[in-house]
Amino acid sequence: MDVAKALQFIEQVTENADKVQQTTLAEILSQNGGTEYLKRFNLDGPDAFKSKVPIVTYEDIQPFIRRIADGDRSPILCAQPISDFIISGTSGAQGKLIPVNKQEQDIRVLQASLAHAILKQHVKGLDEGKSLRFMFIKPDRRTQGGLVARSAITRFFKNDIKNRADAMTTTSPYEAVCCEDIFQSMYTQMLCGLYEREHVLRVGALFASGLLRAIRFLQLNWQNLTHDVRTGMLNPRVDDQGIRGCMARVLRPEPELADLLARECDKDKWEGIITRIWPNTKFVDTIVTGSMSQYIPTVDYYSGGLPVTCTQYASSECSCGINLDPFCHPSQVSYTFMPHTAYLEFLPQDPDWSGSELVDLVNVEIGKEYELVVTNYNGLYRYRLGDKFRVTGFHNSAPQFRFLARRNVLLSIDTDKTDETTLQGAVESAYKVLNESKTVVADYTSYVDTTTIPSHYVIFWELLLKDSDGWPSGEVVEQCCLAMEEAMDAEYRRCRLADKSIGALEIRIVERGSFEELMDYAVEKSSAAFSQYKTPKCVQLKPMVDLLNSRVVAAHFSPSPPHWTLEERL
Ligand code: AMP
Repeated sequence: MDVAKALQFIEQVTENADKVQQTTLAEILSQNGGTEYLKRFNLDGPDAFKSKVPIVTYEDIQPFIRRIADGDRSPILCAQPISDFIISGTSGAQGKLIPVNKQEQDIRVLQASLAHAILKQHVKGLDEGKSLRFMFIKPDRRTQGGLVARSAITRFFKNDIKNRADAMTTTSPYEAVCCEDIFQSMYTQMLCGLYEREHVLRVGALFASGLLRAIRFLQLNWQNLTHDVRTGMLNPRVDDQGIRGCMARVLRPEPELADLLARECDKDKWEGIITRIWPNTKFVDTIVTGSMSQYIPTVDYYSGGLPVTCTQYASSECSCGINLDPFCHPSQVSYTFMPHTAYLEFLPQDPDWSGSELVDLVNVEIGKEYELVVTNYNGLYRYRLGDKFRVTGFHNSAPQFRFLARRNVLLSIDTDKTDETTLQGAVESAYKVLNESKTVVADYTSYVDTTTIPSHYVIFWELLLKDSDGWPSGEVVEQCCLAMEEAMDAEYRRCRLADKSIGALEIRIVERGSFEELMDYAVEKSSAAFSQYKTPKCVQLKPMVDLLNSRVVAAHFSPSPPHWTLEERL
Protein backbone atom coordinates (compact mmCIF):
# COMPACT_ATOMS: atom_id res chain seq x y z
CA MET A 1 0.00 0.00 0.00
CA ASP A 2 1.46 3.38 -0.89
CA VAL A 3 1.96 5.99 1.79
CA ALA A 4 -0.76 8.37 0.60
CA LYS A 5 -3.39 5.65 0.48
CA ALA A 6 -2.39 4.30 3.88
CA LEU A 7 -2.53 7.75 5.49
CA GLN A 8 -5.87 8.40 3.89
CA PHE A 9 -7.19 5.11 5.24
CA ILE A 10 -5.94 5.92 8.75
CA GLU A 11 -7.57 9.34 8.62
CA GLN A 12 -10.85 7.89 7.40
CA VAL A 13 -11.22 5.23 10.07
CA THR A 14 -9.98 7.39 12.93
CA GLU A 15 -12.24 10.32 11.99
CA ASN A 16 -15.21 7.99 12.20
CA ALA A 17 -14.00 5.74 14.97
CA ASP A 18 -17.38 5.30 16.62
CA LYS A 19 -19.17 4.51 13.37
CA VAL A 20 -16.43 2.11 12.30
CA GLN A 21 -16.64 0.35 15.67
CA GLN A 22 -20.41 -0.04 15.38
CA THR A 23 -20.06 -1.38 11.83
CA THR A 24 -17.33 -3.76 12.96
CA LEU A 25 -19.48 -5.12 15.79
CA ALA A 26 -22.54 -5.42 13.55
CA GLU A 27 -20.48 -7.28 10.97
CA ILE A 28 -18.99 -9.67 13.53
CA LEU A 29 -22.42 -10.40 14.97
CA SER A 30 -24.15 -10.84 11.64
CA GLN A 31 -21.46 -13.25 10.54
CA ASN A 32 -21.39 -15.20 13.78
CA GLY A 33 -24.88 -14.82 15.29
CA GLY A 34 -25.59 -18.45 14.41
CA THR A 35 -22.60 -19.90 16.24
CA GLU A 36 -23.16 -22.19 19.17
CA TYR A 37 -21.50 -19.70 21.50
CA LEU A 38 -23.55 -16.63 20.56
CA LYS A 39 -26.87 -18.41 20.02
CA ARG A 40 -27.04 -19.11 23.74
CA PHE A 41 -27.49 -15.40 24.41
CA ASN A 42 -30.48 -14.84 22.08
CA LEU A 43 -29.05 -11.63 20.73
CA ASP A 44 -31.53 -9.48 18.89
CA GLY A 45 -29.05 -6.81 17.86
CA PRO A 46 -25.79 -5.12 18.84
CA ASP A 47 -27.42 -3.45 21.88
CA ALA A 48 -28.15 -6.82 23.45
CA PHE A 49 -24.51 -7.75 22.94
CA LYS A 50 -23.39 -5.52 25.76
CA SER A 51 -26.06 -6.58 28.19
CA LYS A 52 -26.04 -10.32 27.49
CA VAL A 53 -22.61 -11.47 26.42
CA PRO A 54 -20.32 -12.02 29.41
CA ILE A 55 -16.77 -10.75 29.76
CA VAL A 56 -14.51 -13.81 29.66
CA THR A 57 -10.95 -14.96 30.14
CA TYR A 58 -9.16 -17.69 28.26
CA GLU A 59 -10.08 -20.27 30.88
CA ASP A 60 -13.80 -19.56 30.31
CA ILE A 61 -13.67 -20.33 26.61
CA GLN A 62 -11.04 -23.04 26.71
CA PRO A 63 -13.62 -25.88 26.51
CA PHE A 64 -14.95 -24.44 23.22
CA ILE A 65 -11.44 -24.01 21.86
CA ARG A 66 -10.54 -27.53 22.94
CA ARG A 67 -13.41 -28.94 20.87
CA ILE A 68 -12.33 -27.03 17.78
CA ALA A 69 -8.75 -28.18 18.33
CA ASP A 70 -9.97 -31.76 18.68
CA GLY A 71 -11.63 -31.63 15.28
CA ASP A 72 -15.20 -30.44 15.80
CA ARG A 73 -15.89 -28.50 12.60
CA SER A 74 -19.33 -27.17 13.57
CA PRO A 75 -19.61 -23.39 13.98
CA ILE A 76 -18.76 -23.30 17.65
CA LEU A 77 -17.22 -19.85 18.07
CA CYS A 78 -17.01 -18.60 14.54
CA ALA A 79 -19.07 -19.13 11.38
CA GLN A 80 -16.09 -18.93 9.05
CA PRO A 81 -13.96 -22.06 9.17
CA ILE A 82 -11.11 -21.90 11.64
CA SER A 83 -8.05 -22.26 9.45
CA ASP A 84 -5.51 -22.80 12.22
CA PHE A 85 -4.47 -21.63 15.66
CA ILE A 86 -2.09 -19.02 16.93
CA ILE A 87 -0.15 -20.06 19.99
CA SER A 88 0.09 -17.16 22.33
CA GLY A 89 3.28 -16.79 24.32
CA THR A 90 1.72 -14.88 27.16
CA SER A 91 0.60 -17.67 29.39
CA GLY A 92 3.72 -19.47 30.49
CA ALA A 93 4.58 -23.00 29.52
CA GLN A 94 1.19 -24.12 28.28
CA GLY A 95 0.51 -21.56 25.55
CA LYS A 96 -3.01 -20.47 24.73
CA LEU A 97 -4.56 -21.59 21.46
CA ILE A 98 -6.25 -18.70 19.69
CA PRO A 99 -8.40 -19.64 16.70
CA VAL A 100 -7.83 -17.72 13.47
CA ASN A 101 -9.42 -17.39 10.08
CA LYS A 102 -8.64 -15.66 6.82
CA GLN A 103 -10.41 -12.40 7.70
CA GLU A 104 -8.36 -11.93 10.85
CA GLN A 105 -5.18 -12.61 8.95
CA ASP A 106 -6.07 -9.96 6.35
CA ILE A 107 -6.51 -7.43 9.16
CA ARG A 108 -3.04 -8.26 10.51
CA VAL A 109 -1.46 -7.83 7.11
CA LEU A 110 -3.24 -4.52 6.60
CA GLN A 111 -2.07 -3.30 10.02
CA ALA A 112 1.51 -4.20 9.20
CA SER A 113 1.37 -2.31 5.93
CA LEU A 114 -0.15 0.74 7.61
CA ALA A 115 2.66 0.72 10.17
CA HIS A 116 5.20 0.39 7.38
CA ALA A 117 3.64 3.30 5.51
CA ILE A 118 3.94 5.47 8.63
CA LEU A 119 7.64 4.60 8.86
CA LYS A 120 8.09 5.46 5.20
CA GLN A 121 6.47 8.80 5.82
CA HIS A 122 9.14 9.53 8.45
CA VAL A 123 12.23 8.04 6.80
CA LYS A 124 13.19 9.22 3.36
CA GLY A 125 14.42 6.35 1.20
CA LEU A 126 13.36 3.70 3.71
CA ASP A 127 12.85 1.04 1.07
CA GLU A 128 16.09 1.90 -0.71
CA GLY A 129 18.13 0.87 2.31
CA LYS A 130 18.22 -2.60 3.82
CA SER A 131 16.66 -3.82 7.01
CA LEU A 132 18.66 -6.16 9.23
CA ARG A 133 15.83 -7.70 11.18
CA PHE A 134 16.38 -10.85 13.19
CA MET A 135 13.35 -13.07 12.72
CA PHE A 136 12.78 -16.58 14.02
CA ILE A 137 10.12 -19.19 13.78
CA LYS A 138 9.20 -22.19 15.86
CA PRO A 139 8.19 -25.63 14.59
CA ASP A 140 4.49 -26.03 13.84
CA ARG A 141 2.36 -28.23 16.01
CA ARG A 142 -0.81 -30.02 15.07
CA THR A 143 -3.81 -30.25 17.32
CA GLN A 144 -5.57 -33.56 17.81
CA GLY A 145 -8.07 -32.56 15.16
CA GLY A 146 -5.28 -31.90 12.67
CA LEU A 147 -5.22 -28.09 12.66
CA VAL A 148 -1.86 -26.35 12.54
CA ALA A 149 -0.91 -24.34 15.63
CA ARG A 150 1.94 -21.85 15.41
CA SER A 151 2.97 -18.51 16.86
CA ALA A 152 1.60 -15.36 15.25
CA ILE A 153 5.06 -14.46 14.06
CA THR A 154 5.78 -17.89 12.61
CA ARG A 155 2.47 -17.71 10.83
CA PHE A 156 3.20 -14.26 9.53
CA PHE A 157 6.68 -15.12 8.28
CA LYS A 158 5.60 -18.34 6.66
CA ASN A 159 2.44 -17.03 5.03
CA ASP A 160 2.97 -13.41 4.27
CA ILE A 161 6.48 -12.19 4.45
CA LYS A 162 7.30 -13.00 0.86
CA ASN A 163 4.54 -10.69 -0.30
CA ARG A 164 5.37 -7.73 1.88
CA ALA A 165 7.01 -4.61 0.58
CA ASP A 166 9.51 -4.47 3.42
CA ALA A 167 10.37 -8.14 2.86
CA MET A 168 12.12 -7.05 -0.31
CA THR A 169 14.51 -4.96 1.73
CA THR A 170 15.37 -7.35 4.52
CA THR A 171 18.87 -8.82 4.55
CA SER A 172 17.66 -12.11 6.01
CA PRO A 173 16.95 -14.77 3.39
CA TYR A 174 13.56 -16.43 3.63
CA GLU A 175 15.30 -19.82 3.99
CA ALA A 176 17.16 -18.59 7.09
CA VAL A 177 14.07 -17.04 8.69
CA CYS A 178 12.14 -20.25 8.17
CA CYS A 179 14.89 -22.53 9.47
CA GLU A 180 13.77 -24.01 12.77
CA ASP A 181 17.31 -24.41 14.09
CA ILE A 182 17.96 -21.16 15.95
CA PHE A 183 21.75 -21.32 15.68
CA GLN A 184 21.70 -21.83 11.92
CA SER A 185 19.01 -19.23 11.45
CA MET A 186 20.80 -16.62 13.57
CA TYR A 187 24.20 -17.40 12.09
CA THR A 188 22.95 -16.97 8.55
CA GLN A 189 20.95 -13.83 9.28
CA MET A 190 23.97 -12.29 11.00
CA LEU A 191 26.32 -13.29 8.19
CA CYS A 192 24.06 -11.77 5.55
CA GLY A 193 23.80 -8.63 7.67
CA LEU A 194 27.58 -8.39 7.85
CA TYR A 195 27.96 -8.69 4.10
CA GLU A 196 25.40 -5.92 3.63
CA ARG A 197 26.89 -3.66 6.27
CA GLU A 198 27.03 -0.58 4.05
CA HIS A 199 23.43 -0.91 2.92
CA VAL A 200 21.76 -1.55 6.25
CA LEU A 201 19.57 1.39 7.18
CA ARG A 202 17.82 -0.10 10.22
CA VAL A 203 18.57 -2.89 12.65
CA GLY A 204 15.99 -4.67 14.75
CA ALA A 205 13.97 -7.62 15.93
CA LEU A 206 10.38 -7.96 17.04
CA PHE A 207 11.22 -7.38 20.72
CA ALA A 208 14.34 -5.75 22.14
CA SER A 209 15.26 -9.00 23.90
CA GLY A 210 15.66 -10.64 20.47
CA LEU A 211 17.92 -7.88 19.25
CA LEU A 212 20.13 -8.10 22.32
CA ARG A 213 20.31 -11.81 21.88
CA ALA A 214 21.60 -11.22 18.34
CA ILE A 215 24.30 -8.85 19.60
CA ARG A 216 25.36 -11.42 22.16
CA PHE A 217 25.45 -14.01 19.39
CA LEU A 218 27.81 -11.79 17.44
CA GLN A 219 29.97 -11.41 20.53
CA LEU A 220 30.25 -15.18 20.85
CA ASN A 221 30.58 -16.04 17.16
CA TRP A 222 32.37 -13.18 15.42
CA GLN A 223 35.54 -15.22 14.83
CA ASN A 224 33.64 -17.84 12.85
CA LEU A 225 31.55 -15.27 11.07
CA THR A 226 34.52 -13.19 9.98
CA HIS A 227 36.28 -16.37 8.90
CA ASP A 228 33.37 -17.08 6.56
CA VAL A 229 33.49 -13.52 5.20
CA ARG A 230 37.24 -13.85 4.67
CA THR A 231 37.05 -17.19 2.85
CA GLY A 232 33.62 -17.05 1.27
CA MET A 233 32.89 -20.49 2.76
CA LEU A 234 29.94 -21.21 4.99
CA ASN A 235 30.56 -22.65 8.46
CA PRO A 236 29.85 -26.43 8.28
CA ARG A 237 27.64 -26.15 11.37
CA VAL A 238 25.10 -24.59 9.05
CA ASP A 239 24.00 -27.73 7.25
CA ASP A 240 20.42 -26.85 6.36
CA GLN A 241 20.28 -27.51 2.62
CA GLY A 242 17.87 -24.66 1.91
CA ILE A 243 20.20 -22.19 3.61
CA ARG A 244 23.33 -23.60 1.97
CA GLY A 245 21.61 -23.31 -1.41
CA CYS A 246 20.70 -19.65 -1.00
CA MET A 247 23.97 -18.72 0.69
CA ALA A 248 25.92 -20.00 -2.29
CA ARG A 249 24.60 -16.89 -4.06
CA VAL A 250 25.61 -14.54 -1.22
CA LEU A 251 29.02 -15.80 -0.09
CA ARG A 252 32.16 -14.34 -1.57
CA PRO A 253 35.63 -13.89 -0.08
CA GLU A 254 35.97 -10.35 1.24
CA PRO A 255 39.17 -10.24 3.31
CA GLU A 256 39.10 -6.46 3.80
CA LEU A 257 35.59 -6.55 5.14
CA ALA A 258 36.58 -9.48 7.39
CA ASP A 259 39.53 -7.47 8.78
CA LEU A 260 37.37 -4.47 9.49
CA LEU A 261 34.68 -6.55 11.24
CA ALA A 262 37.24 -8.47 13.28
CA ARG A 263 38.90 -5.20 14.38
CA GLU A 264 35.62 -3.84 15.67
CA CYS A 265 34.49 -7.07 17.35
CA ASP A 266 37.86 -7.63 19.00
CA LYS A 267 37.68 -4.35 20.92
CA ASP A 268 36.97 -4.62 24.63
CA LYS A 269 34.21 -2.09 24.49
CA TRP A 270 31.07 -2.93 22.56
CA GLU A 271 29.50 0.44 23.13
CA GLY A 272 27.99 1.67 19.84
CA ILE A 273 28.73 -1.64 18.13
CA ILE A 274 25.62 -1.36 15.96
CA THR A 275 26.73 1.80 14.25
CA ARG A 276 30.34 0.66 14.13
CA ILE A 277 29.39 -2.49 12.23
CA TRP A 278 26.48 -0.99 10.29
CA PRO A 279 27.54 2.63 9.82
CA ASN A 280 24.47 3.78 7.89
CA THR A 281 21.92 2.63 10.45
CA LYS A 282 19.44 5.44 11.07
CA PHE A 283 17.33 3.76 13.72
CA VAL A 284 16.69 0.64 15.72
CA ASP A 285 13.39 -1.02 14.92
CA THR A 286 12.23 -3.03 17.91
CA ILE A 287 9.64 -2.96 20.66
CA VAL A 288 10.90 -1.41 23.88
CA THR A 289 7.55 -0.58 25.43
CA GLY A 290 5.94 -2.36 28.39
CA SER A 291 8.14 -4.96 30.01
CA MET A 292 10.66 -4.42 27.22
CA SER A 293 11.40 -0.92 28.52
CA GLN A 294 13.98 -2.44 30.85
CA TYR A 295 16.17 -2.97 27.78
CA ILE A 296 16.28 0.65 26.69
CA PRO A 297 19.64 1.43 28.39
CA THR A 298 21.25 -1.67 26.87
CA VAL A 299 19.86 -0.97 23.42
CA ASP A 300 21.11 2.62 23.74
CA TYR A 301 24.50 1.34 24.82
CA TYR A 302 24.92 -0.92 21.80
CA SER A 303 23.39 1.50 19.33
CA GLY A 304 25.16 4.61 20.55
CA GLY A 305 21.81 6.22 21.28
CA LEU A 306 20.08 5.79 17.91
CA PRO A 307 16.34 6.44 17.83
CA VAL A 308 14.28 3.34 18.60
CA THR A 309 10.98 2.86 16.80
CA CYS A 310 8.13 0.81 18.26
CA THR A 311 5.72 0.65 15.37
CA GLN A 312 2.90 -1.65 16.46
CA TYR A 313 1.04 -3.13 19.37
CA ALA A 314 -0.24 -6.58 18.49
CA SER A 315 -1.06 -9.82 20.22
CA SER A 316 -2.16 -13.28 19.22
CA GLU A 317 -5.72 -12.21 19.87
CA CYS A 318 -5.73 -8.99 17.91
CA SER A 319 -3.52 -6.55 16.09
CA CYS A 320 -4.98 -3.15 16.79
CA GLY A 321 -2.33 -0.54 17.67
CA ILE A 322 -0.17 1.59 15.42
CA ASN A 323 2.35 4.17 16.54
CA LEU A 324 1.71 7.24 14.40
CA ASP A 325 4.81 8.98 15.75
CA PRO A 326 7.44 6.23 15.51
CA PHE A 327 10.41 8.52 16.22
CA CYS A 328 9.17 9.78 19.55
CA HIS A 329 11.19 8.79 22.62
CA PRO A 330 10.45 5.19 23.71
CA SER A 331 9.05 6.44 27.00
CA GLN A 332 6.50 8.50 25.07
CA VAL A 333 5.23 5.81 22.72
CA SER A 334 1.48 5.60 22.34
CA TYR A 335 -0.41 3.28 20.07
CA THR A 336 -3.45 4.55 18.23
CA PHE A 337 -6.08 1.82 18.24
CA MET A 338 -7.54 1.27 14.82
CA PRO A 339 -11.32 0.87 15.02
CA HIS A 340 -11.66 -1.46 12.01
CA THR A 341 -9.52 -4.23 13.52
CA ALA A 342 -11.93 -5.54 16.15
CA TYR A 343 -14.62 -4.32 18.50
CA LEU A 344 -12.62 -2.86 21.38
CA GLU A 345 -13.96 -2.25 24.87
CA PHE A 346 -12.19 -1.17 28.02
CA LEU A 347 -12.34 -2.31 31.59
CA PRO A 348 -11.57 0.68 33.85
CA GLN A 349 -8.73 0.09 36.32
CA ASP A 350 -10.16 2.61 38.72
CA PRO A 351 -10.57 0.85 42.12
CA ASP A 352 -13.81 2.78 42.69
CA TRP A 353 -15.35 1.47 39.48
CA SER A 354 -17.89 -1.16 40.34
CA GLY A 355 -20.15 -1.24 37.27
CA SER A 356 -20.31 -4.06 34.81
CA GLU A 357 -20.44 -1.72 31.82
CA LEU A 358 -17.32 -1.58 29.75
CA VAL A 359 -16.22 1.69 28.20
CA ASP A 360 -16.38 2.04 24.40
CA LEU A 361 -13.26 2.86 22.40
CA VAL A 362 -14.26 6.45 21.73
CA ASN A 363 -15.37 7.10 25.31
CA VAL A 364 -12.17 6.32 27.17
CA GLU A 365 -10.75 9.28 29.06
CA ILE A 366 -7.29 10.79 28.85
CA GLY A 367 -5.16 9.89 31.88
CA LYS A 368 -7.28 6.88 32.86
CA GLU A 369 -6.13 3.29 32.84
CA TYR A 370 -7.96 0.37 31.28
CA GLU A 371 -7.64 -3.27 30.42
CA LEU A 372 -8.40 -4.14 26.81
CA VAL A 373 -11.39 -6.40 26.09
CA VAL A 374 -11.64 -7.69 22.54
CA THR A 375 -14.37 -8.99 20.27
CA ASN A 376 -12.85 -10.09 16.99
CA TYR A 377 -13.67 -11.79 13.71
CA ASN A 378 -12.38 -15.17 14.78
CA GLY A 379 -14.59 -16.13 17.66
CA LEU A 380 -13.45 -14.17 20.71
CA TYR A 381 -16.27 -12.22 22.32
CA ARG A 382 -15.60 -9.75 25.11
CA TYR A 383 -12.33 -11.44 25.80
CA ARG A 384 -10.06 -9.98 28.48
CA LEU A 385 -6.72 -9.76 26.85
CA GLY A 386 -4.77 -9.06 30.01
CA ASP A 387 -2.93 -5.95 28.79
CA LYS A 388 -3.31 -2.65 30.62
CA PHE A 389 -3.02 0.80 29.07
CA ARG A 390 -3.21 4.47 29.92
CA VAL A 391 -4.97 6.85 27.54
CA THR A 392 -2.59 9.60 26.43
CA GLY A 393 -4.59 11.39 23.76
CA PHE A 394 -6.62 11.02 20.60
CA HIS A 395 -5.91 10.96 16.90
CA ASN A 396 -9.15 12.32 15.48
CA SER A 397 -11.66 10.30 17.47
CA ALA A 398 -9.47 7.22 17.98
CA PRO A 399 -7.75 7.07 21.35
CA GLN A 400 -4.03 6.59 21.85
CA PHE A 401 -2.73 4.30 24.54
CA ARG A 402 0.50 3.87 26.42
CA PHE A 403 1.16 0.22 27.14
CA LEU A 404 1.52 -0.30 30.89
CA ALA A 405 1.76 -3.99 31.72
CA ARG A 406 0.02 -7.29 31.73
CA ARG A 407 -2.74 -7.65 34.26
CA ASN A 408 -1.24 -10.21 36.54
CA VAL A 409 0.32 -9.59 39.84
CA LEU A 410 3.88 -10.79 39.83
CA LEU A 411 5.03 -11.00 43.41
CA SER A 412 3.15 -11.38 46.63
CA ILE A 413 4.20 -12.54 50.08
CA ASP A 414 1.63 -11.17 52.47
CA THR A 415 -0.98 -8.56 51.61
CA ASP A 416 1.47 -6.95 49.21
CA LYS A 417 0.74 -7.35 45.49
CA THR A 418 3.50 -6.20 43.23
CA ASP A 419 2.65 -5.98 39.56
CA GLU A 420 4.90 -5.60 36.57
CA THR A 421 4.66 -1.81 36.46
CA THR A 422 5.68 -1.42 40.10
CA LEU A 423 8.51 -3.91 39.78
CA GLN A 424 9.76 -2.19 36.64
CA GLY A 425 9.64 1.18 38.43
CA ALA A 426 11.57 -0.27 41.37
CA VAL A 427 14.23 -1.73 39.10
CA GLU A 428 14.54 1.64 37.39
CA SER A 429 15.15 3.29 40.76
CA ALA A 430 17.97 0.84 41.33
CA TYR A 431 19.39 1.68 37.88
CA LYS A 432 19.82 5.25 39.06
CA VAL A 433 22.04 4.04 41.89
CA LEU A 434 23.92 1.75 39.54
CA ASN A 435 24.47 4.45 36.97
CA GLU A 436 27.18 5.78 39.21
CA SER A 437 29.19 2.63 38.52
CA LYS A 438 30.00 1.68 34.92
CA THR A 439 27.36 -0.99 34.69
CA VAL A 440 23.92 -1.57 33.22
CA VAL A 441 21.49 -4.35 33.96
CA ALA A 442 21.23 -6.46 30.81
CA ASP A 443 18.24 -8.44 32.03
CA TYR A 444 16.32 -9.13 35.21
CA THR A 445 13.65 -11.30 36.68
CA SER A 446 12.30 -11.98 40.13
CA TYR A 447 10.78 -14.54 42.44
CA VAL A 448 9.67 -14.93 46.00
CA ASP A 449 12.11 -16.89 48.08
CA THR A 450 9.95 -18.76 50.52
CA THR A 451 12.82 -20.68 52.08
CA THR A 452 13.52 -17.79 54.45
CA ILE A 453 11.22 -16.69 57.24
CA PRO A 454 9.76 -14.27 56.50
CA SER A 455 9.88 -14.76 52.72
CA HIS A 456 11.56 -12.12 50.64
CA TYR A 457 11.70 -10.84 47.09
CA VAL A 458 14.71 -11.93 45.06
CA ILE A 459 15.72 -10.02 41.98
CA PHE A 460 18.12 -11.75 39.60
CA TRP A 461 20.35 -9.40 37.66
CA GLU A 462 22.63 -10.04 34.77
CA LEU A 463 25.08 -7.17 34.47
CA LEU A 464 26.70 -5.68 31.44
CA LEU A 465 29.96 -4.01 32.35
CA LYS A 466 30.84 -0.97 30.30
CA ASP A 467 34.39 -1.22 31.57
CA SER A 468 36.23 -4.25 32.88
CA ASP A 469 36.66 -2.46 36.23
CA GLY A 470 32.99 -1.49 36.38
CA TRP A 471 31.80 -4.26 38.70
CA PRO A 472 29.68 -2.56 41.37
CA SER A 473 30.78 -2.91 44.96
CA GLY A 474 28.68 -4.85 47.47
CA GLU A 475 27.71 -1.57 49.05
CA VAL A 476 26.38 -0.19 45.79
CA VAL A 477 24.28 -3.31 45.19
CA GLU A 478 22.93 -3.06 48.73
CA GLN A 479 21.90 0.52 47.99
CA CYS A 480 20.22 -0.78 44.83
CA CYS A 481 18.23 -3.23 47.00
CA LEU A 482 17.14 -0.40 49.23
CA ALA A 483 16.27 1.84 46.29
CA MET A 484 14.02 -0.92 44.97
CA GLU A 485 12.29 -1.33 48.29
CA GLU A 486 11.75 2.43 48.58
CA ALA A 487 10.07 2.34 45.17
CA MET A 488 7.64 -0.45 46.09
CA ASP A 489 4.07 0.48 46.95
CA ALA A 490 2.93 1.46 50.44
CA GLU A 491 1.56 -1.96 51.28
CA TYR A 492 4.87 -3.65 50.55
CA ARG A 493 6.72 -1.10 52.67
CA ARG A 494 4.16 -1.45 55.47
CA CYS A 495 4.55 -5.21 55.50
CA ARG A 496 8.30 -4.83 55.49
CA LEU A 497 8.61 -2.16 58.16
CA ALA A 498 5.55 -2.45 60.39
CA ASP A 499 4.39 -6.05 60.06
CA LYS A 500 7.84 -7.44 59.33
CA SER A 501 6.03 -10.01 57.24
CA ILE A 502 8.43 -9.49 54.34
CA GLY A 503 12.19 -10.00 54.62
CA ALA A 504 14.89 -7.78 53.14
CA LEU A 505 14.93 -7.67 49.36
CA GLU A 506 17.87 -9.50 47.81
CA ILE A 507 19.66 -8.96 44.51
CA ARG A 508 21.42 -12.02 43.13
CA ILE A 509 23.84 -11.27 40.36
CA VAL A 510 24.11 -14.10 37.85
CA GLU A 511 26.85 -14.95 35.35
CA ARG A 512 26.78 -13.42 31.89
CA GLY A 513 24.71 -15.62 29.58
CA SER A 514 22.35 -16.93 32.29
CA PHE A 515 19.31 -15.21 30.83
CA GLU A 516 20.11 -16.67 27.45
CA GLU A 517 20.04 -20.10 29.03
CA LEU A 518 16.75 -19.20 30.64
CA MET A 519 15.39 -18.23 27.25
CA ASP A 520 16.62 -21.47 25.71
CA TYR A 521 14.93 -23.43 28.45
CA ALA A 522 11.64 -21.54 28.20
CA VAL A 523 11.50 -21.73 24.41
CA GLU A 524 12.30 -25.41 24.41
CA LYS A 525 9.64 -26.20 27.01
CA SER A 526 6.88 -23.99 25.68
CA SER A 527 5.21 -23.75 22.35
CA ALA A 528 6.13 -20.11 21.96
CA ALA A 529 8.50 -19.06 19.21
CA PHE A 530 11.94 -17.70 19.86
CA SER A 531 11.01 -14.28 18.45
CA GLN A 532 8.00 -14.10 20.77
CA TYR A 533 10.02 -14.76 23.88
CA LYS A 534 9.91 -12.15 26.58
CA THR A 535 11.86 -12.71 29.77
CA PRO A 536 9.24 -13.42 32.41
CA LYS A 537 9.40 -10.68 35.03
CA CYS A 538 8.85 -13.36 37.61
CA VAL A 539 10.00 -16.96 37.47
CA GLN A 540 7.92 -19.58 39.17
CA LEU A 541 8.90 -22.87 37.63
CA LYS A 542 11.43 -24.65 39.78
CA PRO A 543 13.82 -25.59 36.96
CA MET A 544 14.02 -21.93 35.93
CA VAL A 545 14.63 -20.77 39.49
CA ASP A 546 17.21 -23.53 39.93
CA LEU A 547 18.94 -22.58 36.72
CA LEU A 548 19.35 -18.97 37.83
CA ASN A 549 20.33 -19.92 41.37
CA SER A 550 23.07 -22.16 40.04
CA ARG A 551 24.59 -19.18 38.18
CA VAL A 552 24.70 -16.72 41.07
CA VAL A 553 28.06 -14.99 41.50
CA ALA A 554 27.11 -12.48 44.21
CA ALA A 555 24.14 -11.82 46.47
CA HIS A 556 23.31 -8.72 48.50
CA PHE A 557 20.45 -7.69 50.77
CA SER A 558 18.81 -4.43 51.56
CA PRO A 559 20.68 -3.05 54.59
CA SER A 560 17.57 -1.56 56.24
CA PRO A 561 13.80 -1.49 55.76
CA PRO A 562 12.32 1.19 53.48
CA HIS A 563 10.42 4.11 54.95
CA TRP A 564 6.70 3.96 55.60
CA THR A 565 4.39 6.18 57.59
CA LEU A 566 0.92 5.60 58.98
CA GLU A 567 -0.33 8.51 56.95
CA GLU A 568 0.42 6.80 53.68
CA ARG A 569 -2.82 5.70 52.17
CA LEU A 570 -2.88 2.27 50.61
P1 AMP B 1 1.77 -13.04 21.98
O1 AMP B 1 0.31 -13.26 22.19
O2 AMP B 1 2.64 -14.13 22.45
O3 AMP B 1 2.07 -12.62 20.57
O4 AMP B 1 2.16 -11.80 22.90
C1 AMP B 1 1.43 -10.62 22.80
C2 AMP B 1 1.74 -9.78 24.01
O5 AMP B 1 3.01 -9.13 23.85
C3 AMP B 1 0.75 -8.67 24.20
O6 AMP B 1 -0.46 -9.12 24.81
C4 AMP B 1 1.55 -7.71 25.06
O7 AMP B 1 1.53 -8.12 26.42
C5 AMP B 1 2.97 -7.86 24.47
N1 AMP B 1 3.16 -6.82 23.43
C6 AMP B 1 2.85 -6.87 22.13
N2 AMP B 1 3.14 -5.72 21.51
C7 AMP B 1 3.65 -4.91 22.46
C8 AMP B 1 4.13 -3.57 22.46
N3 AMP B 1 4.19 -2.85 21.35
N4 AMP B 1 4.57 -3.07 23.63
C9 AMP B 1 4.55 -3.80 24.77
N5 AMP B 1 4.12 -5.06 24.83
C10 AMP B 1 3.66 -5.60 23.69
